[in-house]
Amino acid sequence: MSKPQLIDVPARPVMFREQAYTAAETLAPGEREALMARARELLKAHNAVLVAHYYTAADLQLLADETGGYVSDSLDMARFGKEHDASTLVVAGVRFMGETAKILSPEKRVLMPDLEATCSLDLGCPADEFAAFCDAHPDRTVVVYANTSAAVKARADWVVTSSIAVDVVRHLAERGEKILWAPDRHLGEYIQRETGADMLLWNGSCIVHEEFKGRELAELREQHPDAVVLVHPESPMAVVEQADVVGSTSKLLNAVKTMDAKTFIVATDRGIFHKMREANPEKVLLEAPTAGRGASCGSCAHCPWMAMNGLRSLVHCLETGANEIFVDPDIAEQARVSLGRMLDFARAQQRQVLGDA
Ligand code: SF4
Repeated sequence: MSKPQLIDVPARPVMFREQAYTAAETLAPGEREALMARARELLKAHNAVLVAHYYTAADLQLLADETGGYVSDSLDMARFGKEHDASTLVVAGVRFMGETAKILSPEKRVLMPDLEATCSLDLGCPADEFAAFCDAHPDRTVVVYANTSAAVKARADWVVTSSIAVDVVRHLAERGEKILWAPDRHLGEYIQRETGADMLLWNGSCIVHEEFKGRELAELREQHPDAVVLVHPESPMAVVEQADVVGSTSKLLNAVKTMDAKTFIVATDRGIFHKMREANPEKVLLEAPTAGRGASCGSCAHCPWMAMNGLRSLVHCLETGANEIFVDPDIAEQARVSLGRMLDFARAQQRQVLGDA
C-alpha cells in the first residue's frame, strides 16, 4: 500500500473577525422572538426558504425546520435548494455552501447572513496556487473536497463529499488512476488508508477538527468503556483510529439514532449536538477532548465562521437583499461538471450522497 505524499504547502494564517469567536449572538430580552417572527414574515414575503448547516446556531436550525426549510450537510443543502420551488435560497453556513447552492441553482437568488463566514479549508487552497500545483502534476486525477471555492471546484476533475470520497477514490484507483487530493490532509490520509490509492495531498486542515486530541480521547474512553466513538474524518489520524464510526455529519447523526448504545463520544463541531439531542433526548453525548494533557484551555470545538450566522444577520439579509452570492458563469459551468460526476456516481450506486462539514 502506498503512503500519501504530503506536499509542502505552508500552513496559512487563519484570519477572522473578533466577533466570530462569539459562539452565539447575545440578544436582548424579547429580541429572539421578535427576530424569529420577522424572519418568518420575510421568508414568506420573499418566496424564500432557509437552508441551514448542522453546525449553525440552534435557533437557525429551529427556524429552518418550522418554516419548511432544511437542516443538513453541505451538499444535501444545495440539493434541497435546487429542488425547492422558492425563488430565493437563504443559506446559513459558510461561503462555499452558498457558492455550491448557486452553482446548482443558477436561476435562483442565493443570500447568506454573512459573506465573511468562510472555512479554513477554502482559505488554505487559493485557486491560482492550486491550479499551478495541478499543472505540475498532469498525470494525476484531481479530486477535491466540497469545502473549496467555486474556482477550485472548476479546476478539479471530481468534487466529493466525505461520505462518498472513499468510494470515488477507490473506483479511480481500480482504474489505475493516481490522485491529487485537496485540501484536507487528514481526510486525504484517511481515504488513502481506506483505499490504498496513490495520493498526493494538499496541506490544508479544518481548524475545528484538527484540535481533537488522541491521547485524551483514549483517557475519556477508559472512563466510559461502553461509549461509542463517532469521529468526522477531518480529524487527525490518532483520533480517527479510535473511532467506532467514521463519517460525515449525516452518518454520525444516523449512528446516534440507530445504534443501541446509551453513551456517545463525538468528535465533530459541537453544533451537531442540537440535532443529536433533538432526535435522541435519552442518550448521553460527550464532546471529544480538544485540550491536551495539562493544557489550561482547549478549543471550543465550534467553527468560528459558522458562528457568524445569527438571527440579526439573517433578518438583515432578507430585509435588504444584502450578501447575495454570485459565481462567474464560466466557473460555475466547469464546477457543475466536477460536481455532476459525483452526483452521477452516487446515482449509479443507487444511493444518496450524504455530505459533510
Ligand atoms: S468546521 Fe472546519 S471544515 Fe467546517 S466550515 Fe468550519 S473550518 Fe471549514
